[in-house]
Amino acid sequence: YSGQHLNPLTFETIYEVPVETLMLTPILIKPTTTVQDAITSLFMNDVGSLYVADDDQHLVGVISRKDLLRASLIKQDLTTIVAAVIMTRMPNIVTITATTRLLDAGYLLLKHQVDTLPVLDKAGVVVGKVTKTKLLDYFINAGAKVDQEKYH
Ligand code: ADP
Repeated sequence: YSGQHLNPLTFETIYEVPVETLMLTPILIKPTTTVQDAITSLFMNDVGSLYVADDDQHLVGVISRKDLLRASLIKQDLTTIVAAVIMTRMPNIVTITATTRLLDAGYLLLKHQVDTLPVLDKAGVVVGKVTKTKLLDYFINAGAKVDQEKYH
């Protein structure tokens, strides 16, 4: 048993790290991307949501699985409906910055009951995304590391 001299997980290491350390690269689509192509993009990239950005990478919208399901109930060809029509749009999107603490990102995900938070720079350009899945991954891996060092 060699756990005594190992650093335990501290509040700082768990919660106070900036989201920059665990943010992912989002899949961006255009406001003119069709619902048909958005669904394909979701599967091809194995993600749960897509971010809609203008030509300068500024965030203009978010499209989730449920948004796409809702759109597919409309009795209209999915190649004729575009992202801009079905997305949740700015300024109704909850966003964070690269320096937001992991704890605060977690609070926002729970409070607003969403799966992802876009990470924006000062100009509103998309620089990353934080997801519930990635947060869980971070905590379980941090715990697994200590578990490994302590008991194996
Ligand atoms: P799902 O629809 O797959 O359950 P979410 O819970 O993330 O995924 O999305 C629920 C709704 O909230 C969707 O309409 C989506 O466009 C919107 N949404 C997703 N992320 C955000 C966010 N960060 N801020 C505001 N609205 C969001």
